Amino acid sequence: MFVSNDIGLLVVVGCYGLLIGSFLNVVSLRVPEGHSVVFPPSTCPHCQHRLKAVDLVPVFSYIWLRGKCRYCFSKISLQYPLGELLTALLMVITAQCIGWSSELATGIVFVAMLVAVTLTDLRTMLIPDKILLVSMAFLIPLRIWSHPLGYSDYMIGALLGSGMIFALIVISFWILKKEGMGLGDCKLMIVVGWVVGIKATLLTLFLASFIGGLVGILLIVTKRAERGSYIPFGPYLALGAWISYLWGDALLDWYFGLYI
Ligand SMILES: [Zn+2]
Repeated sequence: MFVSNDIGLLVVVGCYGLLIGSFLNVVSLRVPEGHSVVFPPSTCPHCQHRLKAVDLVPVFSYIWLRGKCRYCFSKISLQYPLGELLTALLMVITAQCIGWSSELATGIVFVAMLVAVTLTDLRTMLIPDKILLVSMAFLIPLRIWSHPLGYSDYMIGALLGSGMIFALIVISFWILKKEGMGLGDCKLMIVVGWVVGIKATLLTLFLASFIGGLVGILLIVTKRAERGSYIPFGPYLALGAWISYLWGDALLDWYFGLYI
């Protein structure tokens, strides 16, 4: 993909990334509970004091307040600044890879969805339908507007990715008599397939299994998890999808270049 060296673009995307990250923190905390993301305004979870605009400036307010609530001095969760920084970093890298083009809007919305899914899945082990539906409402028209591949590639990608996870769910239910993956992962792959197309969908599933498997082994070896304990798969799918979206072609070329 075209690589942008437009510093101005990256700074703007970085600043918006921090703000979007701040919003995604709210989404990950409120959507699983079925609360509105806009009302009521943010309050301190400990003393319920309404937060001022200056308390909500991403990352900087956390540093300025030294990680404590201005009113009751309770510790503010590190999830807030980390979620904001992560979102900004991923968006800047995405913008750097895509450059200033119609595809950039798709890339930004896609990253926002992947971060929201990761934060909620890590916290609640669920991927709320609402996050996927709202993302799809943006991503369907955006993909119709900007489509480096043919439409059928994206449609088949959506069916293939979700279909393969659905088959895994059915098989693990019949053979292992337990839930290997959730329906949320299956629905997530509909959105991912629609954005990345067939080849990158397959690569997403491969990378997610590979990275998830490595981390799983690491967790079992270090006794942070037991064999058979449930580990959310959404974050690995999200990471795999992001890598495949930006570097899928390069990775596949490299891989097949090595073996053919
Ligand atoms: Zn407080």
